[in-house]
This record gives sequence, structure tokens and C-alpha cells, in this order.
Amino acid sequence: MDNQPCVEPANQMESQLQLSQFAMENAFIEIYWLDSHARICYANKQACEITGYSKDEFLHLTLADLDPNFPIDQWESHWASLKLKPTQSFETLHRRKNGELFPVEVVANYVCFEGHEYNVGYAKDISERKLTEERLKISNQRFEALLQAVPDLMFEITKDGYYLNVWGGRNDMLAAPQHQLIGRCVKETLPEAAAQEVMLSLAEADLTGHSSGRQIKLLLPQGECWFELSVAKQSNDNIKDPAFIVLSRDITARKLAEEEIRNLAFYDALTGLPNRRLLMDRLRLALSLSVRNNYYGAVLFLDLDRFKILNDTLGHDYGDLLLLEVAARIQHCVRETDTVARLGGDEFVVLLEEIDEHAEHTSQKVALIAEKIRESLSTPFSLNGNEYQSTPSIGVCLYSGNEVSVDTLLKHADMAMYQVKGSGRNGVRFFDPAMQQIVETRSALEADLRHAVPGGQLHLYYQLQVDENLQALGAEALVRWIHPVKGMISPMQFIPIAEESTLILDIGGWVLDTACAQLALWSANAQTRLLTLAVNVSAQQFKQPGFVEHITDLLLAYHVDPARLKLELTESVVLSDMNDVVAKMHALKILGVSLSMDDFGTGYSSLSYLKKLPLDQIKIDQSFVRDMTIDQNDQVMVQAIIGMTKNFGLNVIAEGVETEAQLNLLKHMGCLVYQGYLFSKPVPVEQFLKLLPHEQFN
Ligand code: C2E
Ligand code: MG
Ligand code: MG
Repeated sequence: MDNQPCVEPANQMESQLQLSQFAMENAFIEIYWLDSHARICYANKQACEITGYSKDEFLHLTLADLDPNFPIDQWESHWASLKLKPTQSFETLHRRKNGELFPVEVVANYVCFEGHEYNVGYAKDISERKLTEERLKISNQRFEALLQAVPDLMFEITKDGYYLNVWGGRNDMLAAPQHQLIGRCVKETLPEAAAQEVMLSLAEADLTGHSSGRQIKLLLPQGECWFELSVAKQSNDNIKDPAFIVLSRDITARKLAEEEIRNLAFYDALTGLPNRRLLMDRLRLALSLSVRNNYYGAVLFLDLDRFKILNDTLGHDYGDLLLLEVAARIQHCVRETDTVARLGGDEFVVLLEEIDEHAEHTSQKVALIAEKIRESLSTPFSLNGNEYQSTPSIGVCLYSGNEVSVDTLLKHADMAMYQVKGSGRNGVRFFDPAMQQIVETRSALEADLRHAVPGGQLHLYYQLQVDENLQALGAEALVRWIHPVKGMISPMQFIPIAEESTLILDIGGWVLDTACAQLALWSANAQTRLLTLAVNVSAQQFKQPGFVEHITDLLLAYHVDPARLKLELTESVVLSDMNDVVAKMHALKILGVSLSMDDFGTGYSSLSYLKKLPLDQIKIDQSFVRDMTIDQNDQVMVQAIIGMTKNFGLNVIAEGVETEAQLNLLKHMGCLVYQGYLFSKPVPVEQFLKLLPHEQFN
């Protein structure tokens, strides 16, 4: 066995041996000497320290005590193999004196020394390393699990776009099966635009370490899908050829939600047309574009006539069907580049851009388009098999540059549309600045009118009513507004404005209150206590729930005899909800209040309703009175009204009597009560009292 190490007996090298022994004894690894029977015949200091045995104790131990896992029954064959291969290394467990096991790495050497054979074992405690290895293993397992748990897809890709690895649970989202991807380039597997995004992400990550937020769109068998890429450069990679981790997250659902939100925000849900918000945006763009190219454009404001009736009678489903069809027809009449928007309800707006460089040509062209739309929408619709005839009112406003704001432009088109409505509907009208002036004055007046009642700017004037002997019967109370700047404003101007809002309720309330207060004053005086006071009541005011109760309260509060109060109603009061109106009128009659029908002959003048209404008086409108002496028709009309009132047992009064001729004719025809400038204009109460015969005040 010449290849076996054999230590020569030490005699001349005594000191060298001692040095070796010292080194062995103080080495930082455990050293054991076993004899051929596996008995421990030497253990160094480190071995004692680590295991807890003393040197003497070791001399009673065998390998089986130190390494409980060693198959001691195979010692012979181990010994033999060691002799053949004198240095062997392996890992095993050693046992401490307290029974605790710990991992060791052992290098076993066969040594023959002074005729004795030994197995010299060098053992290193590898607890630390084992622990690290275990941790690493767990960490790797975790990482592996993590990769598999990636909800979408994760790739390892080279800088040039070659797939190195693919992980993740969403194989259905891959452009090709996982195994087919590896080794291929994104440029081969993805559409050009998507591949380019990936390459850009990689380049960005190469520069800065990471990239995120880029999105790609892929058409997969299940439909269009969106992915968001997050890329990180692997830090431990070699600088020359770095690899990147690419996380591809499926954001299709988010994209769909975003689109849905955008649609909701900018498009009308029913027709899919742009809504007001988007329209305003496009209008702004159109105006600024027009500044640059000097072209004229136009805004068409379109409203369906009597749409509400269709909705109310046939239901909203029919209304929706009509709106859908209207949307389609309008779109059909304009270019694809034009915007057709729905503002809500039955209101549509068409924005026609870049029509012409000349205003006049633009007007002509726009008029043609508007007329085409009007005609198209006037053609009968078939809604669920039912034919329906509709018409639109279209207001048009041209624009050039951005002198007017988007809001003003729309408002002007809207005003023009209202003009169409006012003049019989189913037409097209261009915005005209004079009309705007009227509207602006009107809205300024409305704003001021809000201060009229609280500001004490209203006054009540009284106009005499007389009998055929020209004796005073009473007066009509007529409201006046003394505007702090504009002076006196006629009720013809402000009452219609007040009637468009609830302002008329405040004004009407004030008038009734003031009139009752006046009646209370008059009741205290013998000369005035028999005068009646006629008060105009607006339709809105009359229809207020609790109107009758309100009158009752007033009469009670002021201790006024109800017979002194006369309410003047107009035909507009009875136009709707006849039953409610009749019931209220009866209640007022029972109270003792009298009722007069004002402006008779100008409204519906339907005889059928006259029969049903418990009226006391009919007031012939001044327009008939004015012309009756010169216009035969008006005279016939006045005669007919007088005859009819007689038939119904009502009394009749003529208003607007200005001349003796009118007075005489009226008297001749049988009308015996009058009101008009011939007797007096409406005047403040002090002046009114002066009109009464003086003896009445004695
Ligand atoms: P109305 O109730 O038909 O009042 C008659 C109007 O004719 C009054 O106009 C009166 O000044 C005017 N008038 C009377 N005699 C003559 C005449 O001989 N010739 C001419 N050319 N006109 C005459 P006013 O005071 O401007 O009132 C206009 C309308 O305003 C009233 O018409 C009434 O509808 C409304 N109004 C006035 N005061 C009130 C009110 O307190 N409440 C409500 N709801 N409406 C009122
Ligand atoms: Mg009146
Ligand atoms: Mg009148």
C-alpha cells in the first residue's frame, strides 16, 4: 500500500511533531482519531468544546456514539474502502453529550502511524451553512410559488426582446403557448404596435432600472384585451447583456370601465350622441379654429314640438323611440364631421363647422341644411308600428371667430328657437340681435322685479267703474311698479314676466292684501262702504292649493264684507282642470265674493265653459270696445256678448270706454256698467276718492 500516507516515527523531528500536535489540538475544527474498531482514541479541544465531552469521556466512546447515523455494522467495509481511498468527505450529524444533533462536514483520512492504523476525521460544524441553505431553499420555493401565483403573466426577456422565461397563470392571455415563446422575440409574437411598446419599455428600464405604465392592446380569441407593462432590470445580471422581468397585467376590465365612464361623462346614454359637456368642448374648439381659418360656422338649436304630449300620452318608451329616430335622421342630414348632440329631453344641438368664408353664403347654406332637417323630422315616424307625426322648431346662430362665448352662442340659438315656438312652431329662425335686446331687457327686469314686493316698490291704483247714470259702483285695483331708476313700469310689461315664475304669487298676494286693507278702510265710511273693488287674479295664483282659504283668512282678518270684493279671472284660469276651477269658484261664491270674467272675447270664449262657471259678470275686452264704433265686426261681437250674458243671467261691464260715442252705443246695446278713461284713468287712492261725488263724503 505505497500510496497510503504513513507518518514516520518521530525522533529527530521531535520538535516538528510537537508543533503538529499543538496545531491539531488547537485547530478550529473538530479532530477525532478512531482506531480500527471505531473507538475514539483522540479528540481535540474544539471537539470537546462543541460536543460537551471531556477528553477522558471521549476515550470511552465509539463512532456510534458520536455519529448515531453511521451504520456501525458496516464499519468493516467502511474501513476497507478508506484504505483504498484514504481521503473521503461527506456530511453527517454528530451528537453532543446532551443528545443534541448538529450537522457536520467530515473529511476522513486513513493514517498509519507507528504501526497503528487510524481513521483521522476532521469535522466542521456546518449548522450555520445548513440554516442558510434551508432558508435559501424556502425562499426559492416561495419565489417559485410566487411566480406561479402571478395573476397575469411574467416574462424574463433580454434587452433585444427575446423571451428567456414565462410564468403565470394566464396562458389564455399569451400570444402563443409558453414553451413556444421561449427563445423567440417579441417582434415575432406580438403585433407591431404592441411589440414596439414592449421594446420601448425595455429600453426605458435599461436606462433607469424600471419602466411602468405602458399599455398594449392585443386581439385575442376572447376579444380585445389590454395589458399594462411593468419592467424591471435584473440587478445581478451582467452589464453587457442584461435581462428584464416584464410583468404584464390584464387591465381589460379597467379599460372597459374607463371607457364606460368616459361614455357616461361625454355621451348621451339613450342616443349615444355627444352630450352637453362634449358639445361645449367641441364648440370651444370650433370657435378657436374659426379664429384661425376665418370660416363661419353655425349652431342649430332644435326642439321637438309637443314632445311632452307624446311622452305623457303614449309613455316614455315611445318618447325614447322617437328620440332615437330623430337622432338618426338629424345625423343623416349633416356631414360626418359635424357634431349632433343631445342636451337632454327633446333638445338637440347641431354644430356645423367651417361652412363658408362669407356670412351671407354661410346663412344660405345653413338655411338649406336646417330646412332639410326640419323637413326630415316632419316626415311621419313609425314607432312600434304606430305612425307619429312630429315637427321641430329650429333656432340658428352663426359664428365667426370667438367674439361671443360658447354659452352666449348656445343661448342665442336657443332664443331663436323660442321665437319659432312663439310663432307657431315647425320652422327655422336665425338669431337676430334686436330680439336679444328684448330678451336681455326682460331678464334685467325680472331680476329687479324680485325686489319689488320686499322693497315696497308696488302701488295700487284704482280705476273707477260706473253705472249708466255714471254713479260710482266701485273700482278695479291695478298694480303699478315704481322702479327706483326706471320710474313707473306698466303691468303689461312686468305681469307676464312675473307669471313665468312664482313671482306672480308674491305680487298677487300683495295686491290682495292691499286691496282688502283698502276695503276695510272704505267700510268705515258711509260714502265708500258700498264700493266694490275688483282685483285681478292670475291663473297660477288661482290654482294655488288653499287659494279660497287664503281669501277667507284675508276677509276675516280685515273684517271685510265679502260682497265688496270682486275677483277678475281670465280665460286662461279655466283652461285646465275645469273641475278644480269650478269647485273653487263655487266655494268663493258661497263665501259671498263675486267673480268677473276679464278680457272676455280674446281667449277661447267657449260658450260651453261659460255655462259651467258660476260667474257674476263678464267684462267685454277693451279691444272690441275701442273699435266697435268703426268696425262692424267688433260691434256685432259686443252685441253678441251682451246678448249672451243676458241669457246666462250675468251682468256685463265694458272696459276701455274712452268716448261718448262708445258709451252711447254700449248703453244702446244694453251694457249698463262701464270702466274707461272717459270716466277716469287708474289713479292713486287719494285721487280716486276725489272722483266720488262730494256729498258722499259729508
Ligand atoms: P286688465 O285687467 O284688463 O286691466 C285693464 C287695463 O286697461 C288696465 O291697464 C287699464 O289701465 C287699461 N284701461 C282702462 N281703461 C282704459 C281706456 O279707456 N283706454 C285704454 N287704452 N286702456 C284702458 P293696466 O293697468 O296697464 O293693466 C294691464 C293689465 O295688467 C290688466 O289688464 C291686468 O291683466 C294686468 N294687471 C294689472 N294689475 C294686476 C294685478 O294686480 N294682478 C294681476 N294678476 N294682473 C294685473
Ligand atoms: Mg282686469
Ligand atoms: Mg281687461
